[in-house]
Amino acid sequence: MFCVECGAEGPTYEGLCAKDFAKKHAVVRAPEVVDVERCASCGSFRFRSGWSKLDRDLAATRLFRERIPAERPYERVTFTFVAREEDANNFSLTVKAVGRFQDLESVQGFRTRLRIKPSLCDNCQKQKGRYYEGILQVRGEGRELTPPEVRAVRTFVAARVDRSAEDGAFVSRMEEVHGGLDFYVSTNALGKNLARDIADAFGGSVSASPKLFGQKQGREVFRVTSLVRLPPFQVGDVVRHKARVAEVMAVRPFVVLRDLASGEERRFKAKEVRSARRLDAERFEARIERPTTGEAIAVHPESGEGRPVTPRPKERAARAVVVWTSEGAFLSALPADASKN
Ligand SMILES: [Zn+2]
Ligand SMILES: [Zn+2]
Repeated sequence: MFCVECGAEGPTYEGLCAKDFAKKHAVVRAPEVVDVERCASCGSFRFRSGWSKLDRDLAATRLFRERIPAERPYERVTFTFVAREEDANNFSLTVKAVGRFQDLESVQGFRTRLRIKPSLCDNCQKQKGRYYEGILQVRGEGRELTPPEVRAVRTFVAARVDRSAEDGAFVSRMEEVHGGLDFYVSTNALGKNLARDIADAFGGSVSASPKLFGQKQGREVFRVTSLVRLPPFQVGDVVRHKARVAEVMAVRPFVVLRDLASGEERRFKAKEVRSARRLDAERFEARIERPTTGEAIAVHPESGEGRPVTPRPKERAARAVVVWTSEGAFLSALPADASKN
């Protein structure tokens, strides 16, 4: 085949050699400037499809694809570029556009500027307005949350929300109230999912109560309050349950209580032990003394006070982990540091 323009022999495209084809057909119409909004709060860029968090170079590539179509007859175009920063919001770009036509690749270089307009994305706008749809409440069953629990739940929620931030999940406000935590969340689904995840991780029960909030485009809008109640006790707690003194061996999926006098373990649903009360108790490893009376006496490591241990520890054991309450000393089945957190 011969080029109709220059007569060169070789492959032709619409009658032209590659050189003359490229001369006649520009790959793209190069824009002098590409403007884009970027959220001043979260750094997302605004694309045709919506806001998206990308780094600057990926964002620029996506903007080129969106805004600079291949000129006909090129079927496809790809971009590479080098950016030079003029200031935080202005970049001068040297771009290479590669147009494809059949098996031909034509390269066109051009310069343009990327101008970033600070703005606020939809999510951040809602967040700034203290927007919320649902409320997630975290409480203890018949007790206040302990400070370590408060810290752990806050960290847990922050990590979960961070992971689903792309789907518009955010917490607009968090309050410590009545020995618990309230999270104001961007969607009801987020509140429900977080409640379930917290119950899975920390134990406890979940409930939800929707309240009609208003109407939006003819649809009823509900505000859902999701409530997680963390178990009434923590592992290591010593409780009085139906006249017996027990230590808490587990809190989920069931509460397991071990009777300190008999050593017998039983499991309960959280609501079955709602009436149980925590007792002040210490747990430590104690020296065991055996006076000639045949008793086993645990010695408090600080006060030196001695109390008979129930049930009696194994023969010859010189030390044992005991639970020390106002009513006596009991052998514990847990390690001495079980209730430290
Ligand atoms: Zn030619
Ligand atoms: Zn934003």
